[in-house]
Amino acid sequence: MTLTTRFAPSPTGYLHVGGARTALYSWLYAQKNGGDFILRIEDTDLERSTQESVDAIMDGMNWLNLEWTHGPYFQTKRFDRYKEVIEQLLESGNAYRCYSTAEEVDAMREEAKAKGEIEKYNGLWRDRTDHPEGQPYVIRFKNPIGGDVVIKDMVKGDITISNDQLDDLILARTDGTPTYNLTVVVDDWDMKVSHVVRGDDHISNTPKQINILKALGADIPEYAHIPMILGDDGKRLSKRHGAVSVMQYRDDGYLPEALLNYLVRLGWSHGDQEIFSREEMIELFDLKDCNRAPSGFNTDKLIWVNQHYMKTMDPEYVAEHLAWHMADQGINTDNGPALADVVKIQADRVKTLKEMAQISRYFYEDFTELDAAAVKKHLRPVVKEPMMLVKQKLAALTDWSPAPIHAAINDTAQELELGMGKVGMPLRVAATGAGNSPSLDITLALLDQNKVIERIDQALAVLEARIAAS
Ligand code: GLU
Repeated sequence: MTLTTRFAPSPTGYLHVGGARTALYSWLYAQKNGGDFILRIEDTDLERSTQESVDAIMDGMNWLNLEWTHGPYFQTKRFDRYKEVIEQLLESGNAYRCYSTAEEVDAMREEAKAKGEIEKYNGLWRDRTDHPEGQPYVIRFKNPIGGDVVIKDMVKGDITISNDQLDDLILARTDGTPTYNLTVVVDDWDMKVSHVVRGDDHISNTPKQINILKALGADIPEYAHIPMILGDDGKRLSKRHGAVSVMQYRDDGYLPEALLNYLVRLGWSHGDQEIFSREEMIELFDLKDCNRAPSGFNTDKLIWVNQHYMKTMDPEYVAEHLAWHMADQGINTDNGPALADVVKIQADRVKTLKEMAQISRYFYEDFTELDAAAVKKHLRPVVKEPMMLVKQKLAALTDWSPAPIHAAINDTAQELELGMGKVGMPLRVAATGAGNSPSLDITLALLDQNKVIERIDQALAVLEARIAAS
């Protein structure tokens, strides 16, 4: 039998990091075992489900490169099947029509509460056959009386729940629409899901689902309930804590590999190893090694992982992602150095690709404004002479590459008996518009020779204006 996992989001928002981690764990476990991974959209809540959210979830899955083998399935397309199974449960005596009104059910709950008992439906219609004609009814599950349900959870260990704690839950509402626990059960059964991996906020549903599966004579899948992700204040991670949407992390400049690596470690570990390639994750990940306790989201660590990937992945690949950010920031990269060359020199200078794009604009766009602080500090009257001389030497180069560029700067400094910085810093400000850049010879080599000369002239003009004003 093929091992099958699934990711079953409700399309009521974007794909958030908690969902992405659940998807990742499900995907990894299937990959590891040569199994199937299903994407199932649980869109039965018609009021809250949107196509926009379906698209956002798929975008997130695609960006993370978590490929599903089957689906996406949509629960709204399966209503006939749910009806069929509800009928089957009625016929086998595992479900019943309940004609109690909402007020009556509330009263039952109040009564139970007053007696200090578990608040639930009292089973009034469980065995009755005197069904009133034309009255609205819901269909309830005949939860077993007595005995226990044991969840053999791969993460949390065995969890035992007494059947007496469980309600005769509603399977179909008065309008005939199926409820969440019924649809999940039918789908997990029909889709032959062997391992249900989901957040532990669903753990209270699991015994109900197990009971329904048993009533249907279905195999019970293995369960793995993953603890929540917490924000820095120890509360469940939410928008309040900052970015939670996967696509927001793309927009903020993280590589998908970095986010996946960060997420796999958030709730699972393998010794003290921090960096896992996709292949290693697949090889080493196991549901049974997941943490039982919730994990705290730590942006500094995510940044660290992102820096690692920007520096160590193939620059050509990183460049594909940088290209997205360049475009996002309106920087046209058609003319200028290859983005992979920019990645090579900028990767260890930034936390994110967004920042990398920001500080790489000067490779592709001319500027007329120079950073004011850098001008003040480095474009002083004394640098006029070295600027003129270095310009002359750079203009004369026939080989526009780092070594001769370096020599031109060095020779200028020596001829004028100045430190390298006295030549290099004003040159840097001229060429890049600011006082920070990677090594000057490499930076200049990536720029066009004529462009550098033009930019030196531009800086000299600023310098002249400054001299004239003083
Ligand atoms: N649709 C549910 C959710 O988004 C998940 C159900 C499940 O994984 O069983 O929370």
